Amino acid sequence: MSQRVAIGIDFGGTNVKVALVSEDGRILAKSTAPTDATAQPASVVGQMAELAESLLIAKRIAHDNVVGVGLGSPGPLDFRRGMVLHSVNLPTWENVPVRDLLSTHLDLPVALDNDANAAAFGEYWAGAGKGGGDFVMLTLGTGLGAGVVLDGKLLHGHHDNAAELGHMIVVPDGLPCGCGQRGCVEQYAAAATVAKRVESAIKDGEDSSLATRLQAGETIDAKLVVEAMKQGDALCERIWDEACMFLAITCVNIQHAFNPQSIVLGGGMAEAGEVLLDPVRDHFTKRTWRLESDRPQIQLATLGYDAGAIGAAGLAWKMRLMRNK
Ligand SMILES: [Zn+2]
Repeated sequence: MSQRVAIGIDFGGTNVKVALVSEDGRILAKSTAPTDATAQPASVVGQMAELAESLLIAKRIAHDNVVGVGLGSPGPLDFRRGMVLHSVNLPTWENVPVRDLLSTHLDLPVALDNDANAAAFGEYWAGAGKGGGDFVMLTLGTGLGAGVVLDGKLLHGHHDNAAELGHMIVVPDGLPCGCGQRGCVEQYAAAATVAKRVESAIKDGEDSSLATRLQAGETIDAKLVVEAMKQGDALCERIWDEACMFLAITCVNIQHAFNPQSIVLGGGMAEAGEVLLDPVRDHFTKRTWRLESDRPQIQLATLGYDAGAIGAAGLAWKMRLMRNK
């Protein structure tokens, strides 16, 4: 019997990533193609299906050995109807029944979830949280995405918008956020917003070794902030440390809301490794309550940019288990 697989699709505004994933969470084959953000949804879904079919042909896996498809998509979504309601980065995507479209193309059942949840499920199932219990992931990229896995299931909430932890308010009347609130942690502790805060401080006249780069028209990103900090740049040190403090406060709040075994940090900012993890842990220890046995482990993600596709496939495997019950 040939190997059984699930198809995991990580659908983003920039790329579509498709992977064939085994029952124990290993990628057997994968491919990536740029997303045509202006194309009609039906043709984008067709492209996803073609990528999947070519992988199956290349690996000589028969359709009968595919247990299902998982799709991690930008949201907001309507889980019950399997729809993308709309998307900031994909203007043609309005009320798209993506689950049924994809299911028809591939003649397979499709599990749909949002991209941050799919990545969180990937780390829970096959990455930093593997084999563990209740789990929260924070993805520190352009924004601050999150996913919460309780009793083996992603938390969705009554209105399907649970686990939007990036929009927890940490600064009353703080920086405005795209969501309409002020002082969301996303504005202080995501890769893009840390860089943006350094940039605006320099524009406001603060000293930094990055000032010349900014004047030369370069864009400051989180990687440059970390490099400058390692060279002793005081402004970058301060803003990075504040980001770590706000993340630690978020972790304390997560501890009290969900009482997880682990909280995992992923996304571009987590590429800084210990430079991120150590200060977050220090701030956390200083700020959490006295009950030491209650503390979650704060860890770095291990699957990198494959987390979304692996997690989507994991949702398909899980859906199959549920069907066979
Ligand atoms: Zn917000």
